[in-house]
Amino acid sequence: MTGDHLDPRAAEAAGGHPGVPDAFGRLWTPHRMVYVGGQDKPEDDGEGACPFCRTPARTDEDGLVVHRGETAYVVLNLYPYNPGHLLVCPYRHVADLTDLTDDERDEIGALSAAAMRVLRAVSAPHGFNLGMNQGSVAGAGIAAHLHQHVVPRWGGDTNFLPVVASTKALPQVLGETRDLLAAEWASAAAPEGI
Ligand SMILES: [Zn+2]
Repeated sequence: MTGDHLDPRAAEAAGGHPGVPDAFGRLWTPHRMVYVGGQDKPEDDGEGACPFCRTPARTDEDGLVVHRGETAYVVLNLYPYNPGHLLVCPYRHVADLTDLTDDERDEIGALSAAAMRVLRAVSAPHGFNLGMNQGSVAGAGIAAHLHQHVVPRWGGDTNFLPVVASTKALPQVLGETRDLLAAEWASAAAPEGI
């Protein structure tokens, strides 16, 4: 465990609390409440409210930024499908792949490949889903600011929880994931300058 991130193994000591043990397992995912409740859903109507525009001004740790490029950056998805789910975003507030400059398109492609190399080195996924949803009708949560998903996949990572209950179990807190990926990105796994 690094930095001042909360150690989940130490967060819920059972001693001294009332309760009756039973046979059920319990999955505590309080970070999902901001999503389920909708109170944290950003406005999708301009740069001022856009989380992809605001994140670069934050520190890497606070913003969950893994790498900063020239025209685009890589950040952990706050609502990951799997551990290590990354988003590659241009700094500019543009919605459509056709709005990007050649430099932005090239760098987003290069950063996506580097993200795959880094994720393979850190967590050995068996495969990836890469892609971008263009427009809210196609599934884009923040349609106004383009973002490429890089989702590591493992055999058996889709089980009854996401299929039946729309819930993902995530064994690692985001801050810890960011620390691991950023450290690997800064090492030999990523080519010079990417
Ligand atoms: Zn934006």
